[in-house]
Amino acid sequence: MKIVVTGGAGFIGSHVVDRLMASGADVVVLDNLSSGSLKFIEPHLRRENFEFHKVDLATSASDITPLLDGADEVWHLAANPDVRVGVERPEVHFKHNIVATYNVLEAMRRNDVRRIVFTSTSTVYGEATQLPTPEDYGPLIPISLYGASKLACEALISAYAHTFDMQAWIYRFANVVGRRSTHGVIFDFIKKLQANPRELEILGDGNQTKSYIYIDDCVEAMFFGLKASEVVNVLNIGTEDQVTVRRIAEIVCEELGLVGGKMPEFRFTGGRRGWRGDVPLMLLDISKLKNLGWRPRHNSEEAVRRATRDLLEELKLQRR
Ligand code: NAD
Repeated sequence: MKIVVTGGAGFIGSHVVDRLMASGADVVVLDNLSSGSLKFIEPHLRRENFEFHKVDLATSASDITPLLDGADEVWHLAANPDVRVGVERPEVHFKHNIVATYNVLEAMRRNDVRRIVFTSTSTVYGEATQLPTPEDYGPLIPISLYGASKLACEALISAYAHTFDMQAWIYRFANVVGRRSTHGVIFDFIKKLQANPRELEILGDGNQTKSYIYIDDCVEAMFFGLKASEVVNVLNIGTEDQVTVRRIAEIVCEELGLVGGKMPEFRFTGGRRGWRGDVPLMLLDISKLKNLGWRPRHNSEEAVRRATRDLLEELKLQRR
């Protein structure tokens, strides 16, 4: 089995690569290393069943077509995942999410590759009035350029699947946290507290309440979801509870040993959202995946605590 993983040097992608390599598959990683890192896939670099190509998927389908030669499946994770970028530079999500996905699908069509696994997001639901939000919730009205770009990708994938006899697994993730994460609220809080342990700036009013899933649960769910056998399988991946941004700040402080008299002052920037396009309430209905037999092992708060410990370990930070 030859499997192409785009974005395979990134946070989630590198965990997918570990698992595919452990299964004995031939793995080809395509990544432009914009936010990914070779150190995440370092153990595989010299293995015979592994190839890495530094390539920008947004450039052209022709450039990537030869790289998909002989592939059985594509796991397409490459994207710009930073919602905030869309406010300053809307073209980024258009190019690296929509155009890149089109180029990947074209390269698949030209090579007759029939299976695609795609990482989408809860942000496609916009500000859903139904929580937990099931996969068939609608209309889908994203409020960020990122959410819009992922919804466009989902539409392209569905159309390619139906037009060119492909099969697709589209996973809509809650917030994924854990080892090798290089962005997101936990990462931000750690960085800020490293710079100034006496004060922590929290974007919004701290009451944003969302679901967080630990990386190992997320990757497990992605492989589990392959049991679904429709032409296009849309599946939510998340936990069944939520945690507030204020609570995440407390957990990060606890894990850094900033408790009691050492607790920093929380300074809220105010407003329901952390930034334009931020969806303040998010909880996904995961019954579809549960019906296939999958359950998350960790709830949101456990996921956040584990991820904080992971990141502190990676950053080699000591408790104060
Ligand atoms: P990440 O930034 O660590 O990984 C993205 C990878 O794609 C990086 O290695 C980056 O270098 C690569 N990349 C970006 N643009 C590229 C391009 N044009 N050509 C080639 N490579 C390119 O982010 P992640 O958190 O691991 O996200 C992986 C996927 O999961 C993304 O599609 C993201 O939208 C989706 N997702 C993530 C979360 C989350 O909470 N982390 C939630 C929902 C969806």
